[in-house]
Amino acid sequence: MPVERVLLAQPRGFCAGVEMAIKALAWMVRVFDPPVYCYHEIVHNQDVVDRFRRVGVIFVDDIEEVPEGAPVMLSAHGSAPEVVEEARRRGGVVVNSVCPLVTKVHHEMKTRASKGYRVIYVGHKGHEEAIGTMAVAPDAALLVETEEDVDALQGVDGPLALLAQTTLSHDEWAGVVDRVKERFGELWMPTRGDLCFATTNRQAALRAIAGKADAVIVIGSANSSNTVALTKVAKASGCPRVYRVNRADELPDDLSGVIGVTAGASASEELVQSVIDHLAPIHGTENVHVTEEDEYFPPPRQLRDLERSMSAALSFGLGAPAAADSTVEEDRFISASDVLKKLSTTP
Ligand code: SF4
Repeated sequence: MPVERVLLAQPRGFCAGVEMAIKALAWMVRVFDPPVYCYHEIVHNQDVVDRFRRVGVIFVDDIEEVPEGAPVMLSAHGSAPEVVEEARRRGGVVVNSVCPLVTKVHHEMKTRASKGYRVIYVGHKGHEEAIGTMAVAPDAALLVETEEDVDALQGVDGPLALLAQTTLSHDEWAGVVDRVKERFGELWMPTRGDLCFATTNRQAALRAIAGKADAVIVIGSANSSNTVALTKVAKASGCPRVYRVNRADELPDDLSGVIGVTAGASASEELVQSVIDHLAPIHGTENVHVTEEDEYFPPPRQLRDLERSMSAALSFGLGAPAAADSTVEEDRFISASDVLKKLSTTP
């Protein structure tokens, strides 16, 4: 039996933070001679990382692997303060493409720790975002992943705060919050929660289709926290078959009926389209739109400063007025998907 219809979740795919990070790294690739270094995968998506590798980006998991003086980008997941410091010490251009929503959590961690709080941080052990955030206040922070981890906490005294990795699913977060409140009572939590809009919106859109689908396809990499959270949401919504795939050629070949499709925040629309082409639904694709998402994050500050000084230097040399912020203004209207496509055609 063929695939009859595809229900396509909207929003899906690239979020504002991923858009910003991809465009920033592409800018570095254009401006600097290779190799450009990137600390950790720029975003957790194999396809995106491979495309940058092909144009000479070297990804490292240890900042000491970056040669002195080489340009380096720090990934969207946020880096530990000592990594940022070491990157700067190495003397090359450093652009930090940390998502502003992760920076917000770093700030909360730092502020609460400085006020004498112990901070329970709900996150995935070993995930880069969790490692970077915990490193902001290692003496104050306590990492928990499950309700059992909360039960096992020892020696927690004094005022308590609760923070979270931005890409958790609501279900992952809710159970732990309840258990922490049950066990410790009063605690400080940010007025605006830490779970990011992109994660929440993608999960809401998937919930709208998962119950109506015979199978759900989540496009994204296994190390992408928000992608994995989407698979959990689809299963929790009662969908009998849920698959995470990196690319269309990983799709099972016995899919039929109504298929729900979504993509994690670091998976491109190009991948989504190739999955739909592969499914070839006989009654077409229905876009299931849950909410508008028009968030935009401007390029990292270091990149804006760099562009301004390059523009000023050029205007000095050529006698023309400096085109301050012109590319930054245009940035809003350029999509990371287009940037990636162009990158692939770079000789
Ligand atoms: S998923 Fe959320 S926190 Fe992560 S990069 Fe995107 S907007 Fe930022």
